[in-house]
Amino acid sequence: MSLEKYIREVQDFPKEGIGFKDITPLLLNSNARNECLTILLSAVKDKKIDKVIGVESRGFFFGILLAEALNVGFIPVRKPKKLPYETISASYDLEYGSDSLEIHIDAIQKGDKVLIHDDVLATGGTAKAVCELVERLGGEIVQVNFLMELSFLNGRQKLDGKELFTALTY
Ligand code: IMP
Repeated sequence: MSLEKYIREVQDFPKEGIGFKDITPLLLNSNARNECLTILLSAVKDKKIDKVIGVESRGFFFGILLAEALNVGFIPVRKPKKLPYETISASYDLEYGSDSLEIHIDAIQKGDKVLIHDDVLATGGTAKAVCELVERLGGEIVQVNFLMELSFLNGRQKLDGKELFTALTY
């Protein structure tokens, strides 16, 4: 099955000049969703994983599916002030300004083997901030996986040294 046909490109969203990759057609089709999950799982099948992180908000969809399939805990990494308990945060640069992400301080125990999932790898800033959160809590990053990578934005460079896996590459 070609998964590309379930990714819709929407021009000028969220602002002019951006070609936004929309995963909602993929979410809508159970065969495509299953195929995508199988591909992501095949890349971690020989690895021991204790926890899966999903990055707000589109990383939650497959993050929870991965955690369920691997029979391990799920950790939401969220935008500022969304998590109710004590958190640590890491910031990352945007085109204009910066943003940050938070994780609960008790989500990861020292030595936990963690799989990080997000929908898209673009410039890599988001994923890098999540890696920082995991490492500050003493977790070990087994892999960072994505539904797709926008390779022309060179996000991989920011994640040097991390094992990356992506189901689709543009
Ligand atoms: P980065 O930090 O530049 O790598 O951007 C990655 C983050 O932006 C991810 O959390 C994505 O959800 C989001 N993102 C960037 N481009 C797209 C896109 O074309 N479609 C959906 N999400 C995107």
